[in-house]
Amino acid sequence: MKKVDFLSALAYARREAPWAGLRYSREITQSRCVRNDAPDKNAISLEEGVMCEVLIDGHFGYAATADLSLAGLQRAFDQALATTRATSAHKVHAFTEAQRINVQGAYESTAKTRLHAMPLARITECLLEASGAMAIDAKIVNRAASAMLVQTQIDYFTTSGTHTSQHFDIVDISVVATAAQGLQSQSRSWSLSGQHGGEVFDPTVFAKEGLRVAAEALELLAAPNCPSGRMDLILMPDQMMLQIHESVGHPLELDRILGDERNYAGWSFVQPADFGRLRYGSALMNISFDPAKANAMASYGFDDGGNPARRERLIEGGILKRGLGSLESQERSGLPGVANFRSASWNRAPIDRMANVNLEPGSSTLDEMIASVEDGILMSSNRSWSIDDYRNKFQFGCEHGQLIKNGQLAGVVRNPNYRGVTVDFWSRLSAVGQSDATYGTPNCGKGEPSQVIRVGHASPPCLFRGVEVFGGQS
Ligand SMILES: [Zn+2]
Repeated sequence: MKKVDFLSALAYARREAPWAGLRYSREITQSRCVRNDAPDKNAISLEEGVMCEVLIDGHFGYAATADLSLAGLQRAFDQALATTRATSAHKVHAFTEAQRINVQGAYESTAKTRLHAMPLARITECLLEASGAMAIDAKIVNRAASAMLVQTQIDYFTTSGTHTSQHFDIVDISVVATAAQGLQSQSRSWSLSGQHGGEVFDPTVFAKEGLRVAAEALELLAAPNCPSGRMDLILMPDQMMLQIHESVGHPLELDRILGDERNYAGWSFVQPADFGRLRYGSALMNISFDPAKANAMASYGFDDGGNPARRERLIEGGILKRGLGSLESQERSGLPGVANFRSASWNRAPIDRMANVNLEPGSSTLDEMIASVEDGILMSSNRSWSIDDYRNKFQFGCEHGQLIKNGQLAGVVRNPNYRGVTVDFWSRLSAVGQSDATYGTPNCGKGEPSQVIRVGHASPPCLFRGVEVFGGQS
């Protein structure tokens, strides 16, 4: 970290504000992409700056700067003070210092190989291995492999003595093969999100997964269209992840329930009175918020208000217990929440975000789930998603479908889709797998101005009974 005089800047702000905070953030993102055996993109970006915050007359206000000199930080505090004074008469709630935690501590994501020590040639070698392995047929018209490496440092200081220091090394990988013939094309992908450190870069794994997705893309090209009708549905973890994200995570965000996001990300069908009462799903549905779970896409030690990471149950035995709301949203709504006050960058104020929102593992094996289905389908890997502003009605498409007849897999189908309504859908949850493997996405969007943030989801395979399934255009 650069030598920046954070404490003098805070002392400057303290002369006029009863409380002030300062969050320094530095993020290096490297993106590498190989397409059809040729390097397609080698990019690096650096984002570095400070968010200054003050509390005046019960109102929090912010100003950000990339000028890290003491004079630059003082100018940002002057701006934060002026904006906060001007807007405090219109505040939605009178806050206190209790919405910022007084804490000291450090966090480092788990990794044996730090990303700054990773030879970039090794990463390109892995991507080329995947691309080469996908070249198994002339009908494979696109072979792409990419890796995004993110190194983030966040330090938070306040006038009440808080100092947290956190470092993250995060990797996001995707490998995609597209097969085409005539007007028909099918893509199959492998992705690894939320891996920490450089351990994942093994050329043999990339070659193996490249070969598999190319073979499955060809298989899909020759497969019949997915049938339509009500049937049992098994969702694999790389689709369950999105099901949890869109139909559990977003509707439970307290700022959405309070209406803050109605102009952009939307509202929620969940009402404040539903907490402690609403049956959200079957008794097998146990959802936890857990930024303290190691090695996931959104693991951390403290949120951006200093609140220490703690695992909390959001839904227990199918009953809604707790929302995804920071100390500010908890104070406003009177509802229980979590440590999820997060910002996407140095120049964004924190808002309520998901971190790791996990479906807790159950007791079923995948084989047992398949054996229990008379007429159904197993779907893998999200391809498309659509869900309404209230996070109620949804329709998702997957890359890969496998019919199930009389307890056995019975052939691949292409363009599989399903639709449902959130609470009705989760009430159909009839078996939960044993895995607690965590998937994630770096692209959860919310807020005005826009914030794109990383989220993680432990996602076991799951069986839902009697779901509306349909095919696509043939
Ligand atoms: Zn999202």
